[in-house]
Amino acid sequence: MINSGSDAVLQNALHGQKLSPDEIRHLLGLREGKAVSRLFRTARQIRGRHFGNKVFLYGFLYFSTFCRNNCRFCQFRKANFSLERYRKTDSEIIEAARRMADAGVHLIDLTMGEDPDFLQMNSNGSVRLENLVHKIKTETGLPIMVSPGVISSDMLKRLAEAGADWYACYQETHHRPLFERLRIGQSYDERWQAKKYAQNAGLLIEEGILTGVGETADDILHSLEMMRSLKADQVRIMSFRPQNGIPMSDDLKADDLSEPVTIAVMRLIFPGAMIPASSDVDGPDGLRQRLRAGANVITSLIPPGKGFTGVVTADTDSAQRMPRSIAPVLEHCALEVASAKDYMRWIETRRSQSEFHQKLQDSVC
Ligand code: SF4
Repeated sequence: MINSGSDAVLQNALHGQKLSPDEIRHLLGLREGKAVSRLFRTARQIRGRHFGNKVFLYGFLYFSTFCRNNCRFCQFRKANFSLERYRKTDSEIIEAARRMADAGVHLIDLTMGEDPDFLQMNSNGSVRLENLVHKIKTETGLPIMVSPGVISSDMLKRLAEAGADWYACYQETHHRPLFERLRIGQSYDERWQAKKYAQNAGLLIEEGILTGVGETADDILHSLEMMRSLKADQVRIMSFRPQNGIPMSDDLKADDLSEPVTIAVMRLIFPGAMIPASSDVDGPDGLRQRLRAGANVITSLIPPGKGFTGVVTADTDSAQRMPRSIAPVLEHCALEVASAKDYMRWIETRRSQSEFHQKLQDSVC
């Protein structure tokens, strides 16, 4: 497809037309400077229609780096004995959540490895993660995202009743053979089904993929179609970077444009969804590029010096990852931090749309 073909596809997206697989494949392959700039500009126009110039901030609390799994791309894999792990106490987690709320984030993202300690039933019949969600919700009043890995439908209901709003569970790829290579010994179907259970429990869903892990352009295209079929509320792509203690080859690396170009294509396909920009991979410059590509959420804001870094690797002990320090980046991109009300309004609208789809599906089944 030549450039004028690209422009026609972008015009179709601007007019709200559903892009065909061929059109999406073409956009995912764009690497030439001017064509990429036009793609990013279109993604920003579409973001502007849905969110104006407002972006949302997520406070990230990675409170346990213990995990029962052995994903080949992750340093927290159980078989990595070279890693010094941590598991925070409840009071440390609650205090950090309070601090992030005071700093102005819109959501508290409670993330952990698949650590059974937080999911075991206490003698009084409650579960540690459920209690944490309830306390943090009561104290901060903020929406909460949980990322406990694959858990039962019962547990998802309990977390939703305790006050969780979001369930993040990344397939990382929807190409089954690649999934089996990345998430060794895990079930593709159970992971996918957990997201369906979470939707039934009234939770919003974040789905995510990795790039630079040996996937093809068609694998990314397939993932975007699966995310569309899931009606994911937040969609993320993250570049793989090799870390110590993992078996994945150093030769695997995403090309520099794979992540931002896919973010822009996501914005065209999921115009009103939350799409994160993380500075984990390329620092503040990377954040700027991802916002230019149409992202509207800044993730991985962490309390400095508190040891909640998890997968975050850059600027972990300075104040570089607090909301106030990203002001220059936002100014550069002509963006502003949204109000808490804006975020709550988006959640309520999205939830009522999900309930509508759920009822429609139930009535068809
Ligand atoms: S990606 Fe998640 S589930 Fe896999 S090893 Fe890392 S922390 Fe565990």
